[in-house]
Amino acid sequence: MTGKLRGCFFCRYVKEKKDKSHFLIQRSKHSFSLLNLYPYNNGHVMVVPKRHVSDLEHLTPEERSDLMDLLIETKKLFRKVLKPHGFNCGINFGRVAGAGVADHLHIHLVPRWNGDTNFMSITGGAKVISQSLKALYDLLSGEFKKGQRR
Ligand SMILES: [Zn+2]
Repeated sequence: MTGKLRGCFFCRYVKEKKDKSHFLIQRSKHSFSLLNLYPYNNGHVMVVPKRHVSDLEHLTPEERSDLMDLLIETKKLFRKVLKPHGFNCGINFGRVAGAGVADHLHIHLVPRWNGDTNFMSITGGAKVISQSLKALYDLLSGEFKKGQRR
């Protein structure tokens, strides 16, 4: 790892095999998805290329397509588990645009509920007012593993 990458937590997460403690949900060939520790809303997730690049044009076509595939898979997983009414999806390019990590591209995916009343129906019909990241992570990774076994 070169000096300029040392401070990047996305790069560190890829290298370390501590997916559970970093709330990393899925790894694909060139990308990964993880829960945001500072969510805008319940279930705020990020889909990130493994390679440290700052913009879409620096990705190879294969990496771009892998990133898009993982975004779609993540959206499907979240729709199934959290049952949101919609999603916001976006990329902030550069710090001035609000990117927390400006030099490592990442796509935000934020589930939205009607009126964002901040509750969600989870499988089994239980309503929860708030959900810790840990509980949410367990729910999502459990559902993801179930999907893998099929
Ligand atoms: Zn990085």
